[in-house]
Amino acid sequence: MKALVKAKSEKGLWMEEVPVPDITPNEVLIKIERTAICGTDMHIYQWDEWAQKNVPVPLVVGHEYGGHVVAVGSTVTRVKVGDRVSGEGHVVGRKSRNARAGRFHLDPDTKGIGVNLPGAFAEYLALPEFNVIPLGKDFPLEIASILDPLGNAVHTTLAFDLVGEDVLITGAGPIGIMAAAVAERAGARRIVLTDINDWRLEFAKTLTTRTRMVNTMNEDLKKVMDEIGLDEGFDVGLEMSGAQPAFNQMLDCMLMGGNIAMLGIPAKPYPVDFGKIVGKALTLRGIYGRQMYETWYKMLALIDGGLDMSPLITHRFAATEFQKAFDLMETGKTGKVILDWTQ
Ligand code: NAD
Ligand code: ZN
Repeated sequence: MKALVKAKSEKGLWMEEVPVPDITPNEVLIKIERTAICGTDMHIYQWDEWAQKNVPVPLVVGHEYGGHVVAVGSTVTRVKVGDRVSGEGHVVGRKSRNARAGRFHLDPDTKGIGVNLPGAFAEYLALPEFNVIPLGKDFPLEIASILDPLGNAVHTTLAFDLVGEDVLITGAGPIGIMAAAVAERAGARRIVLTDINDWRLEFAKTLTTRTRMVNTMNEDLKKVMDEIGLDEGFDVGLEMSGAQPAFNQMLDCMLMGGNIAMLGIPAKPYPVDFGKIVGKALTLRGIYGRQMYETWYKMLALIDGGLDMSPLITHRFAATEFQKAFDLMETGKTGKVILDWTQ
């Protein structure tokens, strides 16, 4: 089968012929139809410090997908051939204290498909039955392929109570934009979304109705806070850029006793002024992936209730044209970019 492989320890990805994966008795074989490119795939494509430390070479990459089940292992009961599915990309162990307590998303033995295990940028993917998320037969395949990042957004946004709270989101990438849309629906009061890229902030307006966009390169966030009547600071911060200046700015703009959920992955370690965290009595929570499987239920319920993320998809390419897609992603002028594996 065709697959996109991180074949060399240098910038790039390579389309190669690899064997269709075998399935074990508790696994399902998925025919991949649509995939989406994630910020994490860009780290791997660009081969930054984080990717070099975490990703084995060679590896089939990719973890955002939608497709159909074409084969099931002998012990599989919850899923059948023909089901339209997406799936949780984190494959967990069963030995740790957290896994045995049902906190699967906190299992230290977790491995990520397309990061540590063979991924979904391929014609077929083998996935444990436990990880498969069956969807309705009419569920759009493209939306199936962006459920993974929507789950990151939903999990981070709902990490703290934000009903009636003022929320600062740093980073208007696809996940930051989805977080703003979810915060609007979940009942946050004032919502501010920052970035340093005007295209992204303009684009974010198409998916939100009452979020204030701020380009921190040419607008002073403190002035914006005055303007919108936010004199004491934000109650909740959602860090979704991985950028040091964004996090520092967030620390400066939080209310005493505020809560910060951190999703953004720094490309390399950066220093933090912990005196500010202590002095403001802030709570900081790192967010890894999403909750298994509570976030999936919440996310599908939000979609059922009318949360429409389809405008987030800005570009579509045949999988064989992946290079064009990655070049475009590098311009920063994209929402979600989809690869079609059926062409
Ligand atoms: P993205 O790279 O598309 O978006 C990041 C945005 O941050 C960009 O639009 C960029 O312009 C903006 N940015 C850069 N500097 C900034 C600054 N100083 N102030 C404000 N914004 C700034 O990424 P994404 O796909 O939306 O994902 C968001 C982040 O979450 C990434 O860091 C990604 O690696 C990370 N992530 C983490 C997990 C997890 O499990 N923790 C899962 C998925 C993604
Ligand atoms: Zn992703």
